[in-house]
Amino acid sequence: YEKHLKILGNRNSYSKTDPDATFMRLKDDHMQNGQLKPAYNLQIGTENQFITHFDFFSNPTDFLTFKPFVNGFRERFSGNFDTVLNSVVADSGYGSEENYDFMELNEIEPFVKFPYFHKEQKKAFKNNAFIAQNLFYNSQKDYFVCPMGQHMEKTGEGSRKSDSGFISKVSYYEAKNCKGCPLKGLCYNAKGNRRIEVNHNLNRHKERVRQLLTSKEGLYHRSKRPIEPESVFGQGKSNKQYYRFRHFGKDLITMDFAIFAIAFNMGKMYNKGKITPKNSQKSADLLKINLLVLIFIQNHTINHAETTNLKLAA
Ligand code: SF4
Repeated sequence: YEKHLKILGNRNSYSKTDPDATFMRLKDDHMQNGQLKPAYNLQIGTENQFITHFDFFSNPTDFLTFKPFVNGFRERFSGNFDTVLNSVVADSGYGSEENYDFMELNEIEPFVKFPYFHKEQKKAFKNNAFIAQNLFYNSQKDYFVCPMGQHMEKTGEGSRKSDSGFISKVSYYEAKNCKGCPLKGLCYNAKGNRRIEVNHNLNRHKERVRQLLTSKEGLYHRSKRPIEPESVFGQGKSNKQYYRFRHFGKDLITMDFAIFAIAFNMGKMYNKGKITPKNSQKSADLLKINLLVLIFIQNHTINHAETTNLKLAA
């Protein structure tokens, strides 16, 4: 048992054939069968569809991978591009308070959606006066106003701990008397007076992110994001048939993917490098991209090149 617990570390499971792989719920197959298989959570960073960084995680939740991934990216390019990471574009799977705090601390502009970003833009959401987010807040006197006009005063503070150990501070607000309120059926279902829980720090981050994402630059990034990492994954999986690793163990699959990424980037460089009269003005951009790719290749020391026994991944 001690041996197994040592291999397990802080994971919930591991594969006997590849102890570095963790069981994860993968996409259902064509017969809609759930697929629980040993896997690695691969994260990639891209710029103009070039792979600029990648890493593997044993956690299937994306938001827990954000900090180590960004730190790895900075380490890879440290000394080469001091200003390379001044903004991050990512989907809502990475939009947590912990990650927003991290980006603020590191002066990174967060073009990172939060869960419900799209839902809150909808009319039905905006016009629903009962949603806690839509209640009027008096920041000077620290109270909310409910749809009946009652003040919801602060009753206390608490904390929440995430899976990564990050502690969020929350405040509780409660209406004074909801008894007999004609709007109660629309407002809430619980017993007693209505209580809401508010994370002011997260709300502050969300406000900034909302402004960024709806700005001209934000709209540009949002329109580009679906054709950045997604198309790299699409190209790799569908066009290049890279569905699974050919090795076992994190070191070997890192080598496996590094070779794929280098080949992928070189192919992209070749295709983008075809200068035609139409795209000749792109050559300056290309120079920067080529430099990024060369640093990516150079920083990838492959330690296991002597391994020749290929195995099918689990
Ligand atoms: S139920 Fe309570 S919180 Fe909701 S509208 Fe009525 S008085 Fe306000």
